[in-house]
Amino acid sequence: MRYSRQIVLKEIGKNGQKALAKKTIVIIGLGALGTVSAELLTRAGIGKLILVDNDIIALDNLQRQVLYDEEDVGKPKVLQAENKLKKINSNVKIESYTRKLNANYAEMLLRDADLVLDCTDNFEARFVINDYCVKNKKPWIYTAAIKTKGTLMNIIPGGPCIGCFVKDSECEENCETEGILSSATVTIASMQVVEALKILLNKDYETKMVRVDIWDLTLDKIKVNKKKGCECCDKHNFKYLEIPAEDKFIIKKCKTRVGYNVKPKGSLRINMNFIKNNFEVLEDAKIAIVIKVDGEELVIQSLGTIYFKGTKDINKISNIAKKVYNLK
Ligand SMILES: [Zn+2]
Repeated sequence: MRYSRQIVLKEIGKNGQKALAKKTIVIIGLGALGTVSAELLTRAGIGKLILVDNDIIALDNLQRQVLYDEEDVGKPKVLQAENKLKKINSNVKIESYTRKLNANYAEMLLRDADLVLDCTDNFEARFVINDYCVKNKKPWIYTAAIKTKGTLMNIIPGGPCIGCFVKDSECEENCETEGILSSATVTIASMQVVEALKILLNKDYETKMVRVDIWDLTLDKIKVNKKKGCECCDKHNFKYLEIPAEDKFIIKKCKTRVGYNVKPKGSLRINMNFIKNNFEVLEDAKIAIVIKVDGEELVIQSLGTIYFKGTKDINKISNIAKKVYNLK
């Protein structure tokens, strides 16, 4: 039987094994940490893995990114990872996305997660994970590795978040210049998987930050307190989930007329009262109004489309559209 060695463990057991088969984990980053965590979770019989990474496999990745081989160089990481993982355990459902995690995709990529694993190498993505998980009360596990060292911390709803101990402007160390020993990433990713199993099976998990140096063979645990005034977990200012104004509408050249159309995307709506109260109205014809903004005449339809006939300057169109839609 596939999981007999794991079921016999008192920490897992039959019920634990069944529970794991119902869980979904999202792994952000399929590099040195993500390939190890994904492989171990696939072998352990997790229900579903959602893999997110927009990188291509390079030759210098093979030193530590365990799912890839020489034939994979030049191919997308998530797709090769998915192929390998399916060969390891076809019972595990795997979805993969060649995307960079940002505010635009946070909801789509993270909403199904019972747990999110941070296997990235950058704080930009970590702060998006942090804001999304704190806001939606989902646990996630922060990991990082550099040189011969690795760091791990479980971020659990109600506890301290990454904003409590990392400044968002903090300068990052970089594996390209600092180097990385593969045993450091394999060790910290293995520990991440152990913590993932504990969290998913409602066992006692580590509450402190863990730091390992694989060269010195040392392990330290550091207590992290919730920071009063933390933008994320205290003030609930989820600024990393804010979609940039430019991404909320689309600018297109008109097919039939001269000029440009701007259409709102997603949940963006137009507020005619706001427009009438804030701009010079030249003509009001109920289904459309003509206004003047920054010297430009524009027609606004009640469904939200703005028609520009005078200017071809895309930056100007974008700036006026932001004012008309009342975006900051
Ligand atoms: Zn916090």
